[in-house]
Amino acid sequence: MQQDYLKIKGRIFDIQRYSIHDGPGIRTIVFLKGCALRCKWCCNPESQSFEAETMKVKGQDKLIGRDVTVEEVLEEVMRDAHYYSRSGGGLTLSGGECLLQPEFSAALLRAAKDRGLHTAIESTAIVEFEEIEKLLPYLDLFLMDIKHLDTEKHKEFTTQPNKHILENAMRIAMSDQHLIIRVPVVPTFNDTAKEIRAIAEYAKVLPGVEELHLLPYHRLGSDKYEGLDRNYELKNIEPPTNERMQILKEEAEKTGLRVQIGG
Ligand code: SF4
Repeated sequence: MQQDYLKIKGRIFDIQRYSIHDGPGIRTIVFLKGCALRCKWCCNPESQSFEAETMKVKGQDKLIGRDVTVEEVLEEVMRDAHYYSRSGGGLTLSGGECLLQPEFSAALLRAAKDRGLHTAIESTAIVEFEEIEKLLPYLDLFLMDIKHLDTEKHKEFTTQPNKHILENAMRIAMSDQHLIIRVPVVPTFNDTAKEIRAIAEYAKVLPGVEELHLLPYHRLGSDKYEGLDRNYELKNIEPPTNERMQILKEEAEKTGLRVQIGG
């Protein structure tokens, strides 16, 4: 019975080893398939649909999405156990939205904790809080995106309003979770000092939140849209300059939060 959770199946589309982002130390990032949002800037458009799909990569068809057990993923994750123990690293679940597969995600985090790894998720938390609660006992760090405080603009650029996300941010913070707020900084969406300051002020009132990450928009995923035969709407948008990011960082720091550029 104790081992049953290792047999739980989930759908992923990638496993990335040796990452130094998305949590402390050296980490393995497991990318889960399926997302509730459709952010215009998304650099992993192949993550959005829960269904497996074909994407052209360098002219070849590649199947994106495979069903795996917790045990299978864990075996791959544990190949780098040596690096985790030396660096304080571990496992991060990303996506897509890992909270859309709560049983699988909770079981994977539990298995990682059982083996002494540091655990993190990267999430927008746009699910019922009861689903989030399933993961919290096995989680060391919640990296949560807050993209905009204006719900209309949020909906225009992601397809969903932000009310539920903001409510969940408060509930997660109230549960004593180590929570870091992250903001993808996207020109024409949220790159003004006023918009970033508003998000930072919201983050500041979340109990226990001390840190904010500003993640500059980049175009690294744009070829994937072509590979999926989809239109990339932001093709005329330039990434923010280093100077612009510095100004936004200083603006967010006025709230008293520790702010870093990049994750
Ligand atoms: S929440 Fe993340 S994975 Fe989902 S569409 Fe937005 S950027 Fe992509």
